[in-house]
Amino acid sequence: MMIDESQALPAPVAAGVYNLYTGVELGDEAGAAVPTAAALGLEPPRFCAACGRRMIVQVRPTGWWAKCSRHGAVDSIDLDARR
Ligand SMILES: [Zn+2]
Repeated sequence: MMIDESQALPAPVAAGVYNLYTGVELGDEAGAAVPTAAALGLEPPRFCAACGRRMIVQVRPTGWWAKCSRHGAVDSIDLDARR
């Protein structure tokens, strides 16, 4: 299992350019719109925060993963470690 040493969340959830749930471009108020890891644990993202593409989302009993065709996949397990 790979562990990311950096504190940064993966781009598809942390880029802050597009809203994770609506796909709307955020502009300068991006920082306030990035959900916490805890919030993401409850509600999987639907759109890539970096490019606004609709992501492939798979929900499972223990969490979820979401994949952007350009920016890669995010797994809720990866976010759990940062709560
Ligand atoms: Zn993307």
